[in-house]
Amino acid sequence: MGYVHPVIIDPESLTTPQCLGLACVACHKRFPLPRVPVGTLPDGTIVRACEDCAFLIRPQH
Ligand SMILES: [Zn+2]
Repeated sequence: MGYVHPVIIDPESLTTPQCLGLACVACHKRFPLPRVPVGTLPDGTIVRACEDCAFLIRPQH
């Protein structure tokens, strides 16, 4: 646990709210605000997913 290797996500595949970290990158849900950082855009912006989706995107080992 601890440091998570950053995943670079292509912004072309995301909507504007997703790019701003205001919507889940997987299910587009905006409320409640997605909490889990799952990657960054090439410019360093953190994109987020809700907890359920983050678990699917980044399985815990
Ligand atoms: Zn989600």
